[in-house]
Amino acid sequence: MKRKKRTTTISGETERKSYHADEKGNYGEFGGAYIPEMLYPNTEELRQNYLRIMADPSFQREFDHLLKDYVGRPTPLYFAERLSQKYGTKIYLKREDLCHTGAHKVNNTIGQILMAKKLGKNRIIAETGAGQHGVATATVCALMGIECVVYMGEIDIARQAPNVARMKMLGAKVRPALSGSRTLKDATNEAIRDWINNPVDTHYIIGSVVGPHPYPDMVARFQSVISEEIKWQLKEKEGRENPDYVVACVGGGSNAAGAYFHYLDVPEVGIIAVEAAGKGIDTGESAATSALGKVGIIHGSKTLLMQTQDGQITEPYSISAGLDYPGVGPMHAHLFKSGRGEFISITDDEAMTAGLEVSQLEGIIPAIETSHAFAIFDYKQFKEDDVVVINLSGRGDKDLQTYIDYFKL
Ligand SMILES: *Cc1c(COP(=O)(O)O)cnc(C)c1O
Repeated sequence: MKRKKRTTTISGETERKSYHADEKGNYGEFGGAYIPEMLYPNTEELRQNYLRIMADPSFQREFDHLLKDYVGRPTPLYFAERLSQKYGTKIYLKREDLCHTGAHKVNNTIGQILMAKKLGKNRIIAETGAGQHGVATATVCALMGIECVVYMGEIDIARQAPNVARMKMLGAKVRPALSGSRTLKDATNEAIRDWINNPVDTHYIIGSVVGPHPYPDMVARFQSVISEEIKWQLKEKEGRENPDYVVACVGGGSNAAGAYFHYLDVPEVGIIAVEAAGKGIDTGESAATSALGKVGIIHGSKTLLMQTQDGQITEPYSISAGLDYPGVGPMHAHLFKSGRGEFISITDDEAMTAGLEVSQLEGIIPAIETSHAFAIFDYKQFKEDDVVVINLSGRGDKDLQTYIDYFKL
């Protein structure tokens, strides 16, 4: 099937083709905006303006400036020599762990706060599960001097005390969600309720390539700086822009979307997505959406999600908080369904072992999310001259206690 091509200007050179969102936010059969009518004015304002604002030179200047001087971009593309030797292929690491705040999430929160300012909003809301997105949001709100309210399930507040403290220190208000299972989905409901009640002055910052259109596309574009940099960095190091494979872990899928973005429509570049199999795909305790998910609607978009026979969303499980999500963004559902992406599920144990190995071979302690991506070498054999880029989405400091408990360090 042929799709309309359209050229847009976000990062200067992006062409819209089949693996990108179309004008309605559809990725193949996935995506779209399935929202209550009361939310329509909010998402519609964003939809009508986001591409124009992103293409505005003053927006791009400010975004580029903050990515450079505040976040510390470009992040290095590092040739991992010892890891390469061990697995007999050329492995490069895209060092998003070196971003300010320790992960890729800040690329998106900076983009969205600038977007909010252009739309005349003076109040930010967000929801967070493990607290990473809450911290990234509170960070940029402090930077801009904008009021910040983060919704978080009461249970998660107790489980994630250090991140709650960080948010408070950064000046954000953390509001507990007291209903339901008192975790992420309840916090999401509270945030949506808030947004419906405050449509004029408030912007809702979503932290991954999920949610109703235009969020998945907007977040993917903000994160696309990752593959934009990989292209010129690889050209410098290997004399070519295209790796043979680009690998990333997928929770909602934002670091992956950023790492794939400029390669989505380059068929020579293999796309590998790594999901959390938790204690094993068949144990009932996993977050392996591609293996277990069925088509459904979550957070306003049609995608693959883990659900019971009668369509109730299943509680996901992973040792890594960032991958502990029952769905994937619509881009990834499409990459899976179309066969463009290869999906691999990695258990807790495999990820932890891989994280320890990378620490000791390269002197880099990865976030446990990223450790999942490093475990693929047990499943996939690469050729000696293959260039494999792994997106190192975040650093492991936040996970130290989990590593300590697991390895009895
Ligand atoms: C949040 C997080 C993820 C998962 O989110 P995506 O939207 O799938 O990228 C992965 N790695 C790290 C380090 C994170 O903090």
